[in-house]
Amino acid sequence: MRVLKFGGSSISTAERIRKIVSLIDPLKRTVFVFSAVGGVTNLLAEVIKKTKDGDKELSNELIRKIREVHYLIISDLFASNNFKQIAEMKVEDSLKLISSYISRRNIEQTEKEILAQGEIISCSIIYLYMLEQEFDIAYVNALRFMFIDKYKEPNNQKISLKLNKEMKKYNGCRLFITNGFICKNYKGQVDNLNRGGSDYTATIIGSILNASVIEIWTDIDGLQNNDPRYVESTFPIRNLSYDEACELAYFGAKILHPLCIIPAQKKRIPIILKNTLSPEDQGTVISEYNINKGIRAIAAKDGITVIKIKSGRMMQAYGFLSRIFGVFEKYKTPVDMLTTSEISVAMTIDNDSSLKPISEDLDKLGEVEISQNHSIICVVGNFNDDHNISIQSIIEGLNSIPILMISFGASKKNISFLINTSDKIEALNLLNQHIFNQQLCSITVH
Ligand code: ASP
Ligand code: MG
Repeated sequence: MRVLKFGGSSISTAERIRKIVSLIDPLKRTVFVFSAVGGVTNLLAEVIKKTKDGDKELSNELIRKIREVHYLIISDLFASNNFKQIAEMKVEDSLKLISSYISRRNIEQTEKEILAQGEIISCSIIYLYMLEQEFDIAYVNALRFMFIDKYKEPNNQKISLKLNKEMKKYNGCRLFITNGFICKNYKGQVDNLNRGGSDYTATIIGSILNASVIEIWTDIDGLQNNDPRYVESTFPIRNLSYDEACELAYFGAKILHPLCIIPAQKKRIPIILKNTLSPEDQGTVISEYNINKGIRAIAAKDGITVIKIKSGRMMQAYGFLSRIFGVFEKYKTPVDMLTTSEISVAMTIDNDSSLKPISEDLDKLGEVEISQNHSIICVVGNFNDDHNISIQSIIEGLNSIPILMISFGASKKNISFLINTSDKIEALNLLNQHIFNQQLCSITVH
């Protein structure tokens, strides 16, 4: 069994959908996972925001936009009027639901249900097109098998049971299509795996079905050595270990959902990142592969908040850190970077939704200082003692950019710097120049 996931940009026009469908091998057992059409989840999030602001007119305008995006694809995609009409009806069903949310005719309607409509519509359209192309394919609705528990973690046991049950209904069928991103929570409500979650859907399914491979198709030739949005002439990395990919996805490489490596790693299933625009490119293979030298890639993550706690009580004391972490546990907020001195601790978080109660609770432990608008720059590679890529040389590469925190040593695979977001683009370019274009080039493997 293979699992193939296609992101929003891969299905943003009829031509791109045709291209994907032309790649299908009907003899290979495959589950296809699709995101919403590019930009649609953002439009749906905007509908929710405008509705909350009471701006009904703009919300209705957004609905028209969502209709237009899909109708444009439909009108170009289908040959038969019959399929075209069914596809349009599917779009209208979702739009009706969104309208009723806007006019509050259905107060029970949750926001998550609105956000889910992108994947519901995209899969309906592509499924109908595959049927029109006479593929023997089954549509398995993700809301029937993708479940998360009360900690928002995938409930693997339940997913396995339900997914196998759904697939058994189509005995003999080799091709399946399902929605990325969307799921149900432990209360039975529609929920999701967070933004970019279709990658996670694909690897969860892959791990449960013991897939031979999970392919994630986007619009770039694999994972790049640096952020192509800010740095010119980046290049794809052809092989990455699961750990390296995990660090990069977590610390900002936008191509992958931060959690999606874990299910594949547990079952040692390779993940291949492929480009729909150049399918012949080998892409990036993420597997157990490990090379012991060289810097692999640089990534950056924005929206970082720093919390510092200073207290004389920390001196020579034990249990202080555990009390601090207890506060973060209470508000379910993960800590990314951590540094300590004898009388103070500094931590970073990227989810500041509970910042106020966290700082109130921490106030009882010491003097709290909070600052925002920071970025973490993460350099992933193999900093083994026997190679001459030193931490010093990387720091040197950052020139005069102020470094606010450094984290290194927990593993020899990653060094992270905290800087001001206003310095991020310069930092990425300086490091790129220093690490990949200059003296370290000779020992960098890609
Ligand atoms: N459509 C969702 C998003 O835009 C999920 C995904 O694309 O993976 O975040
Ligand atoms: Mg994505």
